[in-house]
Amino acid sequence: MVKIPMRGILALLAFVVSCSGGNEEEAIQPGQWNGTVSHYHFNFDLSTKAATTTLTFVTETDGDCLTLPFRAGELTSVTTLNGEQATARKGGGLLEVCGTAAKAGAILTIQVAHSVPEATWEDSQVGYSEWNDDLGNPFHYLVSWVGGCDRFGPCDSQPDQFSSYTFEVTHPAGTQVLCPGKITATNTITTCETDFSAPTYSAFGIAASKSWQAHDLGQWNGVQVTLFDIPGSQTQENFSISKHRDFLSWMENNFGDYPYGDELRFVVGPTYWGGFEHPGNIVLSDGLATNGFSAFKNALEHTVNHEIAHMWAGDQTTLLGVYDFAWKEAMAEYLTYLFDTVDDPESAQLANAAWHSFANNADHYPVPEERPPLLDYYGDAYGPGPMVLFRQLEALYSRENMLTALKALLGKQRAIGIADVKEELEKATGDDLSDYFNAWVYGQGKPTWLRISLDVSVDNEILTVTAQDTTNSEKTWPCTFSVKVTSRETGETATVRLFSGIEGQPQLQGSSTVSAGFIVDSGYTLAPNKECLVYESTPTATFSNEKVNPWLTERAKKRTKRRR
Ligand SMILES: [Zn+2]
Repeated sequence: MVKIPMRGILALLAFVVSCSGGNEEEAIQPGQWNGTVSHYHFNFDLSTKAATTTLTFVTETDGDCLTLPFRAGELTSVTTLNGEQATARKGGGLLEVCGTAAKAGAILTIQVAHSVPEATWEDSQVGYSEWNDDLGNPFHYLVSWVGGCDRFGPCDSQPDQFSSYTFEVTHPAGTQVLCPGKITATNTITTCETDFSAPTYSAFGIAASKSWQAHDLGQWNGVQVTLFDIPGSQTQENFSISKHRDFLSWMENNFGDYPYGDELRFVVGPTYWGGFEHPGNIVLSDGLATNGFSAFKNALEHTVNHEIAHMWAGDQTTLLGVYDFAWKEAMAEYLTYLFDTVDDPESAQLANAAWHSFANNADHYPVPEERPPLLDYYGDAYGPGPMVLFRQLEALYSRENMLTALKALLGKQRAIGIADVKEELEKATGDDLSDYFNAWVYGQGKPTWLRISLDVSVDNEILTVTAQDTTNSEKTWPCTFSVKVTSRETGETATVRLFSGIEGQPQLQGSSTVSAGFIVDSGYTLAPNKECLVYESTPTATFSNEKVNPWLTERAKKRTKRRR
């Protein structure tokens, strides 16, 4: 839906007043059309950056003007509405196109010619960029991200919108173009056409390069999978076909058919992020195999499954609003972990430990009430997100409950918010999770998470562990975690589980029977299974001041450093 600017409403009112008393059944009321963009046809010339956007707009109200977000370059030719010359005005991040009035239910074709600036959001690749790969060839990359498709032309950039797309890209001979949909190509023109609808954040995206070598990865459950690798990146050599094929199959078993037909491409490039979930056209960093995120057991495997999970969690089921961002990263991470718990528990444990460590320095809650720009807070979704939305609740309830909620949320083309995730988690667990969400999910400023002081004592062969909440916040932090205590000299270990209940408590206590010779000193480990964002607040506890954005590639960090 497109919001009607106030100017449109005033025009509408003026018309109603001037016509009062009239009896014109056939009259079409002028004003701003409300409705949806059902299709984008985007012509783009890689060499000149000239573009023509032809969009199909289905009206839901009468009107004669359409206003859409627009942050692309200058208008370069006549704008048309249903083939007739229209007036176009650009300003304030919007484009208004006015022409012959049409009734509600009309299908309009609007064509706008304009340039696309080679510009990105700060140091990121959001926008249109040309970064060189290690062979010295430019990687042409057009990335919308959430709310960003209007960088390339008139586009309804609200995250919850689904459209179909045709990308028609003119390029030098020898350059390959990969984008969502079925691809047909001549020497100098490549067309990608979707036979599905998808959100703009991921589907409005184009990659082009002359470095790629195609590798057939076979049929996975009837889906033809191809890797477009850059020689030297080592991606093809390290690609675990069987693991990813099994993961795709596991996703299909749980959440329904792969949503993007019978083709899946992996596209390697010199990217800012580890990966990006363009529907059926997943982009991967060229550094994953050789210079990947060290926190994970295998950065390439982890990222590939994360992006496959996004085909369902992010693309098919998408974000209701910008500040619902955390659920899509939380799900992609948690689903990757969940799959690994069965066949690769070490990988699952390391991912869990990585989230726990990333969260330690998070600057924002998963749903930050101060509403910072997405680029400033999205990095905090990767650690705290999977921890607070799934891993902690898995420990409080069960893994099966989490999967039940995920099955209810995914597998349908629709937009959902954090509130929907909460509702399905409540249904699956049978509990009211309001206190839990108010503690861990929603909040303002830098989260402390649960900071505790620990007291460990033994008396009459009973080991007692007491955790005191030291956060001095008004809220309690519902959680469960264990403390593993090792006896001095004997080396005997005992694990004590602490459980706050779903409302949370300022003090938690648990105990365990131990043998007579059990001697307590400082030999204990807090939350060895990393099932809660709990940290010790004693002076000996060390907190790194280094802020971690887990999704940034080494290449991105180097570029940023160079520029500063
Ligand atoms: Zn992701």
